[in-house]
Amino acid sequence: MFRAFPVRYIKHTRTLATHAAPTSTRSGNSVTRHNWKKDEIQQIYDTPLLDLVFRAASVHRQHHDPTKIQLCTLMNIKTGGCSEDCSYCSQSSRYATPTKASRLVDIEPVLEAARKAKENGSTRFCMGAAWRDLAGRKRGFERILEMVREVRGMGMEVCTTLGMLSPEQARQLKEAGLTAYNHNLDTSREFYPQVITTRSYDDRLETISAVRDAGISVCSGGILGLGESDSDRVGLIYEVANMPEHPESFPVNALVPIPGTPLEGNDPVSVHILIRTIATARVAMPATIIRLAAGRNTLDETDQAMCFMAGANAVFTGEQMLTTPCSPWDEDKAMMGRWGLDGMRSFEQVGVAKKEAARLEQAEIRQTTKSANLIEPAL
Ligand code: SF4
Repeated sequence: MFRAFPVRYIKHTRTLATHAAPTSTRSGNSVTRHNWKKDEIQQIYDTPLLDLVFRAASVHRQHHDPTKIQLCTLMNIKTGGCSEDCSYCSQSSRYATPTKASRLVDIEPVLEAARKAKENGSTRFCMGAAWRDLAGRKRGFERILEMVREVRGMGMEVCTTLGMLSPEQARQLKEAGLTAYNHNLDTSREFYPQVITTRSYDDRLETISAVRDAGISVCSGGILGLGESDSDRVGLIYEVANMPEHPESFPVNALVPIPGTPLEGNDPVSVHILIRTIATARVAMPATIIRLAAGRNTLDETDQAMCFMAGANAVFTGEQMLTTPCSPWDEDKAMMGRWGLDGMRSFEQVGVAKKEAARLEQAEIRQTTKSANLIEPAL
């Protein structure tokens, strides 16, 4: 089934990989731009909320099937003990939180979790490890590459979040079959130093470039409720919407304050801000999948439906997020049924399908070259 991608995707991917990024492309009546000014995005963000939702819903319908929601399941494959100081995170070793550090899990429990996720309708499986980067983790990285190969072999989209990546590590992950890599910008460039000090905004952008250059789909979004202002939420969207390619996925998290972290006392973000941010991101990045991530379980069903109307079209579902609660599959399926929503198939998003087609083509070229080299000495 993995070889069934239409040839036109492969050709298009080659074009994308070799030309300079356009400042805009047209699809239907809506234009995809990469040259946004911050005040243009601010203007969209400041639109009266129901008008903004209506506009976002119209853009959404030009680029996506509005009845489809991508179901993803997340697994923490290495918990806690992280050297970074992200002030929202229970996995940082700098804070006294309820999260206990553990070693990288074995392959089999991961495959079991992925099988269960697939049986329950999830088409993307994401694995997260609490690390700054992969330096000095050669054997762990090899195990993760094997996890990627195996989960991809089940026909699922596979995503990892492993901290900072080098171009070579990104290349190896792509070759193993990685569909997407998550590396959030979290917030605006201006507010970022108040949230994290152990790695810079530019470090994050560098990892995102390495991922994109390796042909892996980028998943990069933010967290609301960190204490940021409206202009910081606009600043985050401005950063991702002006990337040479929009991230294929933009996760929107609502902070779940964790006891022991510096942000434990933060007020919850209002649903109006959540919806406004989703809708603005939808208008600025029409083809991106917008992912309702941490904190979704605190929203009631009507609020979630409003997020879907505003352009969100993916959720994490299953037993657990990395360290916070998740809505279970049966509840999500029942909710989706009530609102006329259905799960997305694997590789339904065109941008993600193109990148996978390019990977398969490369794998075939490598295989043909290897076979030719084997035959040659016998001639
Ligand atoms: S968010 Fe990631 S990098 Fe930051 S402390 Fe938590 S696990 Fe470490």
